[in-house]
Amino acid sequence: MNMFLRVFKYRTQNNTNKKKQESEKMTNQNVVVSDAKSTMKVAAVAMAAMSNTSIFSPAVPKPPSSSAGRFVRRKALKKLETQGGPPKISAWVDSMRASSPAKSPPSSPDHDSWMVTHPSALEMFEEIAKSSKGKKIVMFLDYDGTLSPIVQDPDRAFMSDEMRAAVKSVARYFPTAIVSGRGKDKVHDFVKLNELYYAGSHGMDIEGPSNGSDDKSIVCQPASEFLPIINEVYKKLVSKTQFIEGAYVESNKFCLSVHFRNVDEKKWPELAEQVKEVLSDYPKLKMTYGRKVLEIKPTIKWNKGKALEFLLEALGFSNSKDVLPIYIGDDRTDEDAFKVLRKKKQGFGILVSKFPKETSAAYTLQDPSEVMCFLQRMVEWKQASQRGYYRS
Ligand SMILES: [Mg+2]
Repeated sequence: MNMFLRVFKYRTQNNTNKKKQESEKMTNQNVVVSDAKSTMKVAAVAMAAMSNTSIFSPAVPKPPSSSAGRFVRRKALKKLETQGGPPKISAWVDSMRASSPAKSPPSSPDHDSWMVTHPSALEMFEEIAKSSKGKKIVMFLDYDGTLSPIVQDPDRAFMSDEMRAAVKSVARYFPTAIVSGRGKDKVHDFVKLNELYYAGSHGMDIEGPSNGSDDKSIVCQPASEFLPIINEVYKKLVSKTQFIEGAYVESNKFCLSVHFRNVDEKKWPELAEQVKEVLSDYPKLKMTYGRKVLEIKPTIKWNKGKALEFLLEALGFSNSKDVLPIYIGDDRTDEDAFKVLRKKKQGFGILVSKFPKETSAAYTLQDPSEVMCFLQRMVEWKQASQRGYYRS
């Protein structure tokens, strides 16, 4: 069995403004790259702060409309994502409600203008394919709401066999990563494909493909030191929220989700208050909100965008112009990845949404069934282009 471990330092790049560079400490990431699946271990993965940049480069085609702020959230809500001294509970609850966007009917003016600035990735497929000429496509896929429908019971968010086949086919031609807020093992159990890269816990738990001795496996766990307190808080939250009907605390290994989906909206403030109370003893953890969910994460500045950068680096594309990353996701945590692509002026973010939302993605798909069509089309296009190549 091959036991060659190659440890390389992964230095994430900070291209944000100098002020941020000075104020934020950055450390190297020591990451193991292993040639054998059974030898994957984490070498000391130390990390500190890294900017959660908000730089908004218009490099990707079709930048969002300036009126996008009308939709869903106000900039002020971003202030909620501060660590320490969280805002009033009512603000959290309002933000969560807002993150499940108001339903603008597909024919509404808002929707029509949004589709002009964020066109369908299916309709723009030829352009996307054209822009990949001479480049290696790398696929990044969120799971919930992207590959699987959003369901009432988070433990039953299964993906269809047809979708699995589409993802499997895509991975045959392009390196493919699943980037999810779920625990890595849980999302792996849903997807059931060993040939993919998995970035669980919002990118804080990354592992490479585990099939075949020739595959190089990578591991990155920048939040491992937080594991004991995450487990402690999980137990406290389960105990504290057990009397609120429908409340569900999900452990995602390096982060936690408190699901509000099955809780009567009248009880949302009470549940949010309970969560806030538990967290008040843990300044090293922060709370963010998503679609009917509060997320508890370590205060490190690591997110799906950083995971995307890490994986591109690990795949050898750190400074390459010959790569075209495509990231498909539906939630606000995916925006970090969309922003990275805009900043890098590389690839495309594709937001999965039927309704207008503020987003840094370039294109849109309406729902998981359109995501599946897009993946199938990529495979067909690749196969056709290969046939053309072989004929010439
Ligand atoms: Mg999602």
